[in-house]
Amino acid sequence: MKCGDSHNRIIHPGIPIKSLDGEESCAVTATRAALANYPCPKCLVHHNELHNINGTFEPRITKTMQKAYLDSTRAPNKSEAERILQSRGLHATQNFFWSLHYSDPYLSVSYDKLHSDDLGKWGKHLWPLLLSVLAEDGVKGQLARNMRNVSRWRNLKHFGNVTTVDYADGQDVSRDYGKSFDFFKQHFVNHVIEDIQQKGATDNYETRVGEGIHHEVRQAYKQTNCKNTDPQVCSCLSIKI
Ligand SMILES: [Zn+2]
Repeated sequence: MKCGDSHNRIIHPGIPIKSLDGEESCAVTATRAALANYPCPKCLVHHNELHNINGTFEPRITKTMQKAYLDSTRAPNKSEAERILQSRGLHATQNFFWSLHYSDPYLSVSYDKLHSDDLGKWGKHLWPLLLSVLAEDGVKGQLARNMRNVSRWRNLKHFGNVTTVDYADGQDVSRDYGKSFDFFKQHFVNHVIEDIQQKGATDNYETRVGEGIHHEVRQAYKQTNCKNTDPQVCSCLSIKI
């Protein structure tokens, strides 16, 4: 095809990197979600081993996943087909990305700091645990007071009552507070080094870039007349930029 610089080139399109949250990662790999025995879209870690961030687990590759799917379609009955799929955490889905060159679905799923760390491990697990520990010790109010007294600063979010905010490693926390770390977002960090080596810094593929602008788009949309909104939203955002 003729490229932008007027030179003709043979093009090999592919999707080697995807920016996804956990649910979307399962969707594009046709794998079962967090409660499955094998919930990781990149490897065959068992659910009970999700806390083990240093473990070595069999990676998902197109060849073996495709074979499991085909085996399930040839199974003598439904329960045997389901057993085969379940043992790989797969849905009965023929994955389109298996046949698209340069687009390995399992390699292209990438570590997402926003959902794994900020909203995941911290927001859904450690932050609620911290609040419950502080409440047990009767000092939850002190945290709210301290955060309220932090000076206001431009672009710094100020928390009037941080302990009501609902946004919310490892074995020390588990031993002392009985907290289980057998959840997917804890395990996902097992893949981050490999992702950085293959695709560069996590900023290149985390979802924050796209989702970070959601709030501004919503504000811009509110300023439209709700008809033919795209150009109005774009114009509003470009003025800001
Ligand atoms: Zn994994």
